[in-house]
Amino acid sequence: MTGKATSKPKISVSIIGAGGNSSLVSLLLSRHGIKEIRIVDGDNIEKSNLERQTLFGISHIGLNKAEVMKNIVQSQGILNKITAFHEYLDSVNYESILTGTDLIIDCTDSILTRNLINEISVKMDIPWIMTSSMEKFLEFKLIVPGKTACLNCLTENQNLIPINCSYDNVEFYIPSLGSIMAVSLVSNYYENSKLEDCIYFMNMDDYSITKIKTGLRESCSVCAQKVFPEITSKRIIGRSPY
Ligand SMILES: [Zn+2]
Repeated sequence: MTGKATSKPKISVSIIGAGGNSSLVSLLLSRHGIKEIRIVDGDNIEKSNLERQTLFGISHIGLNKAEVMKNIVQSQGILNKITAFHEYLDSVNYESILTGTDLIIDCTDSILTRNLINEISVKMDIPWIMTSSMEKFLEFKLIVPGKTACLNCLTENQNLIPINCSYDNVEFYIPSLGSIMAVSLVSNYYENSKLEDCIYFMNMDDYSITKIKTGLRESCSVCAQKVFPEITSKRIIGRSPY
């Protein structure tokens, strides 16, 4: 592609979860003309994280993930405006964290947080990117309120319910692949105005990719009826949901 210098997306991106997926997301976006990155994670780095969370090393064990990620990205001197939030996104703090952001990237792989982000996306009219992984499988989707199916729209079709993982059963390279796919969605949407209401599945066992058309559901309780059970629960997340 050409002409990138004038088309880079001057947007503020909030990355929820400073783990495996977000390591590469933060590095790639910081080098791509993004105006601001906010990194949100209340968790600290453990030795068991190091295989998949490629920004972190032994010296970071015990430190906050969001803060370390911010410092590493900032040390490269390319993007000045990076903020770390040493807390978990929840139904109480979301407005203070996300007001003014243009895009949310979910890097948590947590059903609970994913449902919350979906409601926040509709309520605050902020697009978000979902990635989810299990074993050698990856799925990803850009959700734009009013333009694409939201996460809740998908649950009507049992085949489209996003997979949920614990990192224990994800191949070590899959989070980095998810990062690349998320950044490709950012690039295609914000630079090329390309938006497909689809969910994509990658199978790294046979290197296949499947694209399934999705659509807004008129009866959806979240994006059509604006019912937000996770937000109204005022559930405070005091420990890692990621
Ligand atoms: Zn919906």
